[in-house]
Amino acid sequence: MPSADKTKRMKEVRDEIINLKISPLYSYRTENNYFPVIGEGSHDAAVMFVGEAPGKNEAMRARPFCGAAGRVLDELLAFIEADRKDVYITNIVKDRPPDNRDPLPEEIVLYSPFLDRQIDIVQPKAIAALGRFSSSYILQKFGLESLVSPMSRLHGREFFGKTSYGDIAIIPLYHPAAALYNSSNREVMRGDFLILKKYLQKFKKFDK
Ligand code: URA
Repeated sequence: MPSADKTKRMKEVRDEIINLKISPLYSYRTENNYFPVIGEGSHDAAVMFVGEAPGKNEAMRARPFCGAAGRVLDELLAFIEADRKDVYITNIVKDRPPDNRDPLPEEIVLYSPFLDRQIDIVQPKAIAALGRFSSSYILQKFGLESLVSPMSRLHGREFFGKTSYGDIAIIPLYHPAAALYNSSNREVMRGDFLILKKYLQKFKKFDK
C-alpha cells in the first residue's frame, strides 16, 4: 500500500478515536486533559508491538510506552539493536483506564477494531504481544484461542496465523512492567526479545 494511503488511513483511525464519545473512558480523558494514544513508529514496520492501555504518562503525552515500562521497552529494543522508529508501537485500548486498572472486556471490544485496522495498515510480519491481555486478544484474533494460557507458558514462543497479506508470527512476551516488579524477569525478557531480531533483519530491506 502506498505510504500516502497508509498515512491517510492511520489519520482516519486517529480522528475516530479522538471523537469516540461512546467510550466509557472518554469523559475520564477529557476531564483530565488526557489524550488518546494512537501509536507511533514506522507504518511499514515488520514488527508491531501491542501493549494493553496507556498509563498516566502516556495519556499526558499521547505517546505509547513513555513512562517506566517504556524505559524497559527501550532497553529491550536496544538489546536487539532496534530502535523505536524501526517498529510500530501501540496498545489494544487507546485511552487510559482510571487508576491503571486492567482494561475491561467491553473496553477491549470497543477499541480492538481500531487495532485491527492498524494491523491492516502496517501489515507487520510479526506481532509482539506485550502481556496477557494483548497476547489473548491477538491469539484469538488469528483463530488460535485454544492456545491462550498463562504468560509463563506463552512467553517467548512463536505462533503463526494468516492474514490477507500473508503469514504472520505472533510472539507473546511478558509486559515490560514485569521487569519493574521483579528484576530477575529482565534476563528472561532479553532472551525472548532475541526472537524478534530475525524479523527485524529478515524484512529490513522491504521497509525502506
Ligand atoms: N503499558 C501499556 O500497556 N501501554 C503503554 O502504552 C504504557 C504502559
